[in-house]
Amino acid sequence: MSSGRVVVVTGGNRGIGRAIAARFVAEGAKVAVTARSGEGPEGTLTVRADVTDAASINIAFSEIERELGPIEVVVANAGITKDTLLLRMSEDDFDSVVATNLGGAFRVVKRASKGMLKARWGRVILISSVVGLYGSAGQINYASSKSGLVGFARSLTRELGSRGITANVVAPGFIETDMTAALAEETQAEYKRSIPAGRFATADEVAGVVTWLASDDAAYISGAVIPVDGGLGMGH
Ligand code: NDP
Repeated sequence: MSSGRVVVVTGGNRGIGRAIAARFVAEGAKVAVTARSGEGPEGTLTVRADVTDAASINIAFSEIERELGPIEVVVANAGITKDTLLLRMSEDDFDSVVATNLGGAFRVVKRASKGMLKARWGRVILISSVVGLYGSAGQINYASSKSGLVGFARSLTRELGSRGITANVVAPGFIETDMTAALAEETQAEYKRSIPAGRFATADEVAGVVTWLASDDAAYISGAVIPVDGGLGMGH
């Protein structure tokens, strides 16, 4: 349980991030979400931030610290896709996805780690994807950014593991969000046939794993990649 902990979830206004923020609120944590638009779920403090911009993260995190106290748990969830095949992928398609998904995690975790080091306690949770390890045609930018998070968490574990800080990766498979709802019915059925569980997951099934990683029960887990994919990639 994360009761009383100060938690920040980036991209907490919708989808998986929103479910994660709501779950932390239900556990009694003090939760802030960063969003470029919209609001986090009930019980959260919403602050504006763009994860591609270190200055905006600094302003947002300073506000969170003023309102809620030192940040103890950070969930780097904000992410985008710009899918297309390699030969059609522009420099901007590649750079913007890496700058948001991997660079965003870097900026957010760097800012949050200051307080964690002082407290000698912290939880860093990076939201990757099954695609980061499994690969996916048309997603070279996205898959690269998501597998980069694995090296990130493992290096961070080696840097800060002795200070009571853990860093782990959660790798969701297909989750029922706006993104998957937009897929054609036949495409959805095809994907479901390739998933051992035979279904997509709810965002709450991802959220439960994230809150568990932030709990005292997971204190000795760091540098791990936890797949939440119904057996699709199994972490390979
Ligand atoms: P959504 O598209 O529903 O939400 C993405 C979130 O990221 C939004 O809150 C969005 O904010 C935020 N965001 C995007 N760019 C920026 C930016 N530059 N600065 C700040 N915030 C930004 O995504 P999902 O909920 O589907 O996905 C959440 C995470 O989970 C992502 O990292 C995604 O890659 C990963 N994932 C999703 C899967 C799925 O099946 N849905 C599967 C595997 C992984 P705003 O609304 O303001 O644009």
